[in-house]
Amino acid sequence: MSINGGRECDRINVAIDGPAGAGKSTVARKVAEQLGYVYIDTGAMYRAVTLAANRAGIHPGETDGLKQLVNSLSIRLAPGENGQMVFLNEEDVTSAIRSREVTLHVSQVASHESVRIRLVELQRQLAASRGIVMDGRDIGTHVLPDAELKVFLTASVQIRAKRRYEELKDLEGISLEQLEAEIAKRDLSDEQREISPLVCAQDAIKVDSTELTIDQVVALILDLSRTKLAEAK
Ligand code: C5P
Repeated sequence: MSINGGRECDRINVAIDGPAGAGKSTVARKVAEQLGYVYIDTGAMYRAVTLAANRAGIHPGETDGLKQLVNSLSIRLAPGENGQMVFLNEEDVTSAIRSREVTLHVSQVASHESVRIRLVELQRQLAASRGIVMDGRDIGTHVLPDAELKVFLTASVQIRAKRRYEELKDLEGISLEQLEAEIAKRDLSDEQREISPLVCAQDAIKVDSTELTIDQVVALILDLSRTKLAEAK
């Protein structure tokens, strides 16, 4: 079944990976809008599992508890007026998954094999009919190794922390320095985990956004998408 109309051979899949705060989700959402594709934020899925674990009192290191939990949850993504909405067992958790508590625990939850197996299965189902822009950490390397376009979006940790700092509505008393240290810690944990670590796929195009605006990055990826689309026809 096609979830976004048109013939499958007229569409490609775009994978955007990279560290926290590189601008992946804003860029991916805009690219999807321009191409008329569906945007999928896989980080939101790991966040939803983390929220459910926090609520159930399951520690992010509890392998068996997390396995049971992830296999009993329903996670649904849907386009909303202000971007992608996330539903956990049909409850709208779009804002709740952005809390600091979730952010601090998500990398550890995401390092569990059972969690990754379940979410990767969902992600592949969503991408089956093509016409998807998916962002995350392992999309080009593991989830969609056949994606026609793979981008690895990076930026210096200082600029990523600064952007995050400016975008956070409720800083809950955290300083820029603290935010930078937390982002660096999350990067390290994502890069060093055993299963599907954050790494640039061999066939990905590396884009450093440190000195680029969001619109410049979007324009670049749209250009690359159109080239790949023409090649795929
Ligand atoms: O993209 P975002 O920063 O919201 O992702 C939150 C966390 O989810 C990441 O730090 C990472 O630990 C995990 N994640 C992952 N694989 C993905 C997407 C996110 O492990 N494909």
